[in-house]
Amino acid sequence: MTLGEHPEIKEIESESLERCLNDIEGICAVSETFDYYQFQHTVTKITDLYQKLLDTSFPRVKYLIERFRELGFNIQLQEFLFEHSGTNGTNAVFKNPNADPDSKTFYIVAHHDYINGKGASDNASSMAAMLELARFVITTKLNVVFVSFDCEEINLNGSRYYVNSLSPEELAKIDGVICLECLGGSKDIVLPTKNLGAICDKYLIELIMNIANRLGYRLSSFKCPIFHSDHVSFSKMGVPAIEICDVDAIEFLKHPYSSSHLYNNTQSIVHHPTDLPENLNTENIRRTLEIMLEFLRDHSK
Ligand SMILES: [Zn+2]
Repeated sequence: MTLGEHPEIKEIESESLERCLNDIEGICAVSETFDYYQFQHTVTKITDLYQKLLDTSFPRVKYLIERFRELGFNIQLQEFLFEHSGTNGTNAVFKNPNADPDSKTFYIVAHHDYINGKGASDNASSMAAMLELARFVITTKLNVVFVSFDCEEINLNGSRYYVNSLSPEELAKIDGVICLECLGGSKDIVLPTKNLGAICDKYLIELIMNIANRLGYRLSSFKCPIFHSDHVSFSKMGVPAIEICDVDAIEFLKHPYSSSHLYNNTQSIVHHPTDLPENLNTENIRRTLEIMLEFLRDHSK
């Protein structure tokens, strides 16, 4: 029997998923329906396009800040100049007030900006998953730092600024980073081994794979050059980092270097007008939550 078959754990899981789906709905409710590719044809100045990205992402991070405040997390907001618009983007950092200050830090990160539909999978799903993981973390001494980055979609601007703002001592204190991306956006949960500009940490991939196996889930792992996200900013600074994302594994492996995966809604709803809460693969979200909660439980013992 896997842990997932235990009736009590099943009940906890379904409550976790329910809260997570509620938060996805909440985040999407404050998000306007947006189509970056259409919008870029309507702007007269390119800076207006980038300003629109910031304007649509801000209500989402505000939603997240309110929920983390209710949970009792310590919150730090970091503003940075987004050169493309000439105005500021906002990263939000959430720290467990009960954390053991002498232990190393572990980061769980996601991004709040989005470019199509209501950004339900990309990346309200991961923002909501962070909230659900935070509900567990605050009951422990785990030194987990959650960060929601802005402007991921434009060359990882928010996370690049954040890692550059850390001192060498702070960077050396980071044990690892898990970046959550596009949960429920496609068929398969994937742990990329490599992305553009970064090799994902083998040990962390193995650790998550082993937990998934223990729970009876088969995850895929292969190189996903174009599916890079904010973990790459940490990897480039020598910090062990990985990404958990949803892609259509069979289709992806046919054309690993093509970006068509992001524009073809038969494979994924990511970066497509269909990126709406009603189109999510909720079973993959449930599994990712279960795996991540098990990972945190293992480390809280
Ligand atoms: Zn994303």
